[in-house]
Amino acid sequence: MFIQKIQAGDGTTTGLCSEDHAIVMLRRAVDRRFPLEATRTGGLVITRDVWSTGSSTPSRRTVSLEPAKPLGVMTPTMRQDLEAIADSDRAYRVDKAEMPFRDRVGRIMLGFYSVPPAAARRLVERGMVVLGLPYEDTSHGRLKEIRTPVRVVLAARLAMLAADHRTSTGEPRGYVYPADIGMSGTVGLCKPGRRSGRVYDGSSVASCTCGWSQWTEDREVARRVAREHRREMASAALKRLT
Ligand SMILES: [Zn+2]
Repeated sequence: MFIQKIQAGDGTTTGLCSEDHAIVMLRRAVDRRFPLEATRTGGLVITRDVWSTGSSTPSRRTVSLEPAKPLGVMTPTMRQDLEAIADSDRAYRVDKAEMPFRDRVGRIMLGFYSVPPAAARRLVERGMVVLGLPYEDTSHGRLKEIRTPVRVVLAARLAMLAADHRTSTGEPRGYVYPADIGMSGTVGLCKPGRRSGRVYDGSSVASCTCGWSQWTEDREVARRVAREHRREMASAALKRLT
């Protein structure tokens, strides 16, 4: 569950938004290429310009979602477990098992990887994962087991996404000697736009904590490509949402 704030014009309305509705909104925002930001607290901000008839300027509409129950600190171990659960399409917790597999009870199973009972309980208590409906299956071909599907909540996915993709843009170097940016160094000492033989280098690099980077002609473009990178990453992460 999220607390939703919609800011449009001068007014702000606050309400609650379910996980399912938040996923629908997020999908629509990705499809329509609206600017969106995941927050490290597990929230989401979607901005869009609304053009109303008869108006020459759009009005900005911002929808922000924050988890109704704060996620709190995500330790590296939690993070690793959550990532494994998010990547698995059939993660389940063992709720009942027969001998000699009783030690599976309380564990979240993901193929060869499993989350031990104490860590699994913490993820549930902290609201980072949700449980589905229990079902009966067999372990090792013949031993009865009760299993409960486990899914990572949207807020935890958004927090991981925001932590992975923190972007920044580089300060342009300003006036530099042409040779320093690969230009011929002897041309026009006093031409307009140059200062004592130097030329203006406004180029800026957009980079991200995930390792991505891109050089652009100026900082404004760098900010735009950084935003675009975060939106693309959100879109890629969303594809894994079920
Ligand atoms: Zn990134």
